Amino acid sequence: MQTNRELFDHVMVPNYNPSEVIPVKGKGSRVWDQKGDEYIDFAGGIAVNCLGHCHPALVNALKDQGEKIWHLSNVMTNEPALRLAKKMTDATFADKVYFANSGAEANEAALKLARRFALDKHSEDKTQIIAFNKGFHGRTFFTVTVGGQAAYSDGFGPKPADIAHCDYNDLAAFEALISDNTCAVMMEPLQGEGGIICPDLEFVKAVRALCDKHHALLIFDEVQTGVGRTGDLYAYQGLGVTPDILTTAKALGGGFPIGAMITTTDIAQHLKIGTHGSTYGGNPLACAVAEAAFDTVNTPEVLDNVKRKEQLFRDGLQAINDKFNVFSEVRGKGLLLGAVLNNDYTGRARDFLVASTNNGLMALVAGTNVVRFTPSLVISDEDIKAGLARFELAVADVVNG
Ligand SMILES: *Cc1c(COP(=O)(O)O)cnc(C)c1O
Repeated sequence: MQTNRELFDHVMVPNYNPSEVIPVKGKGSRVWDQKGDEYIDFAGGIAVNCLGHCHPALVNALKDQGEKIWHLSNVMTNEPALRLAKKMTDATFADKVYFANSGAEANEAALKLARRFALDKHSEDKTQIIAFNKGFHGRTFFTVTVGGQAAYSDGFGPKPADIAHCDYNDLAAFEALISDNTCAVMMEPLQGEGGIICPDLEFVKAVRALCDKHHALLIFDEVQTGVGRTGDLYAYQGLGVTPDILTTAKALGGGFPIGAMITTTDIAQHLKIGTHGSTYGGNPLACAVAEAAFDTVNTPEVLDNVKRKEQLFRDGLQAINDKFNVFSEVRGKGLLLGAVLNNDYTGRARDFLVASTNNGLMALVAGTNVVRFTPSLVISDEDIKAGLARFELAVADVVNG
């Protein structure tokens, strides 16, 4: 059987348009395709592979658990899930954990919990959910409707009701929207898919204060920012603003699918027995790998290095820009960085992505105007330098047509 890009068009639903390149092997921040061509990975499977490919700690956890027990369902709990939950609550504001399989599922749980909480504790009218334009929260119908991109949520018939949006960092607009009927506010503490948009600290603090004033729950979607990505274990810790509910996925499993919603005891008690669930949530294999990822990332050594490596990226991108003048700015935090194209290259992020692939570099876009980098948190300095050299070749290709 020829397992090539052509087969994709024959057997796959056409909702994606993947590259011609089909990777077959990865080690650290290097990846090899079917032809044996090698790539440096600045994409990290969209901020998922926080420890690169086939990190020994994760491989060992998977092998170990793989020879013990794979799956039980929620009729019985299991040791890896309990250990991981304990570590997550020890390391964060939260007391309780709900395990899911993806970011969207973690957010779905958070939104349903917020609606329950408001119904139980306040009134039937307290159902409004406020979120932000350009926000991204996943692709279930509830989460995609809460997300602030109509292109993703339109065309599927009637949407879940009472969801409102305003611009990120626009405090006046937010203040005009929130009321005692607001049940929850869902936000990314740094917008990822929407274009690597950093929050103003004053804005986040004011959102927290207004949520308190109106008894609305503040939900931080840390699916992309969480587990070391910004140089803190969770981005809320770097901001000094604590949410009521936090969702985490992507890097949590280091490449194994898992998501989680974490919250306080007081809020958690509203998801009573039977109110929500998932067949695979808390699966022992997923939790064993996630535990190893969590242990490895949640160390000063890894987290401090994320901040240092951010500077390597910024310096390297600045040097490229000094030569080619293609970016208006580099924004983001830690190893969640976006190079914003200037007016001469508006809308051409995909061209830079394709040119990167042609030069042996895996990169990402965030919208049509931002080239996004979300490499392994433990990528070596040499790989960063070598990858940036390839990116420079890609930029030259685009600039020279
Ligand atoms: C990727 C992402 C999601 C969705 O996660 P899935 O695992 O694809 O469901 C939700 N929120 C944010 C902020 C994300 O970056």
